Amino acid sequence: MMIETNSPEETYAFGKKLGMEAQAGQVYCLNGDLGVGKTVFTQGFAAGLGIQEPVNSPTFTIVQEYDDGRLPLYHFDVYRLGDVDEMDEIGYEDYFYGEGICLIEWSERIREILPEHPIQITIEKDLEKGFDYRKISVNEQ
Ligand code: ADP
Ligand code: MG
Repeated sequence: MMIETNSPEETYAFGKKLGMEAQAGQVYCLNGDLGVGKTVFTQGFAAGLGIQEPVNSPTFTIVQEYDDGRLPLYHFDVYRLGDVDEMDEIGYEDYFYGEGICLIEWSERIREILPEHPIQITIEKDLEKGFDYRKISVNEQ
């Protein structure tokens, strides 16, 4: 599936739609460069799960947990991860193989420990189509 958006609001709305449809145990990998809209998408996704708490990039922690929605949401940003061993230290398996939903920004940095069939969300810019243009691909493997 592929959709195109032209504003953060539209990306948020698409995230919200997927959040409303999300099912327990799913792992979503969010791919795309810095500033492309992964966190905007996550904020919409959280809203779709009924989460009211504000969602921001978990800059100083690897994972941020939100428990006030329909399902627990575990928002990972592994951009600053030094080594994959740090994932062991936080007990990532309980998150990846639990009953909540994982959204992982920069998942390619932890490729070796990802579960087998994550849902891949890839957000890309195309400056020829405008500064706010984004192409969002969803690829269930
Ligand atoms: P990331 O988490 O991928 O680093 P953020 O979600 O934090 O990126 O930031 C995305 C930035 O791009 C925000 O400042 C947002 O307002 C802006 N933006 C512009 N157009 C869009 C769009 N179509 N979708 C998402 N964000 C957009
Ligand atoms: Mg981010």
